[in-house]
Amino acid sequence: MSLLELDDVHSHYGPSHILRGVSLTVERGEVVTLLGRNGAGKTTTLRSIIGATPPEVSAGRIAFGGEDIVGNSPEDIVMNGIAIVPEERRVFGDFTVEENLRMPDISRQDWNTILRDMPVEDESGMNDEEIYELFPRLEERREQYAGTLSGGEQQMLSIARTLKLPNVDLLLMDEPTEGLAPQIVESVLDSIERIAETGTTILLVEQNSTAALKVADRCYILDDGSIVYQGSSEELVADDDVRLRYLAV
Ligand code: ATP
Repeated sequence: MSLLELDDVHSHYGPSHILRGVSLTVERGEVVTLLGRNGAGKTTTLRSIIGATPPEVSAGRIAFGGEDIVGNSPEDIVMNGIAIVPEERRVFGDFTVEENLRMPDISRQDWNTILRDMPVEDESGMNDEEIYELFPRLEERREQYAGTLSGGEQQMLSIARTLKLPNVDLLLMDEPTEGLAPQIVESVLDSIERIAETGTTILLVEQNSTAALKVADRCYILDDGSIVYQGSSEELVADDDVRLRYLAV
């Protein structure tokens, strides 16, 4: 049984039919990347998985640990072990790194009510020591105001806050390398690899396929709301035609 399975999922924003039969699986312990151009439907796929509305999932099955989760609230879905690092990194600029790590729920504001009522306790998610082991840069900067961190460091802080949540079995990441300088992209990728080594399963949405394919075991390409390619990362790296056709790289 796959940890996550999408089977022929269709999603709409009002009359706009965006996902047109998305099927994919993520096995426990894998890093899988979902690639595609601007507007292909990547964020819509993540929103559909996490139960955020809009969009409306109008057909198909989304199963987590074998349980159908379509129609469940985002709170229930998160309680059951799916967490998300949203596209726009949110940190509290006027608070230090350490203080930001005490406020893990705030990064979820965009996902409406997720976790609003859930008490966050250090021992239930990763503790500070584990977080700083994954992100040594954050430890060096624990007293620094988050607003003065570089874009890459803010991204790491945003990811770290999500890992403080209890019970993260599957981590969804929405374009974590967006807008970062190449050197910083490398350190974010390094963090993703180290998170994967802790046994956390990752579904990584990226437009930057070159970066994502360095850390992912397998990949899917979404184009105009449909999966048009799936394979191992090595296969896609070797397939110039497919990358040119769907990813323009
Ligand atoms: P990007 O890489 O630019 O973030 P994406 O692959 O994540 O792109 P989505 O954000 O999922 O793409 O958008 C897919 C399509 O759905 C786009 O055509 C977008 O305009 C449309 N869309 C997204 N959000 C809404 C919304 N709230 N209402 C209506 N249409 C929407």
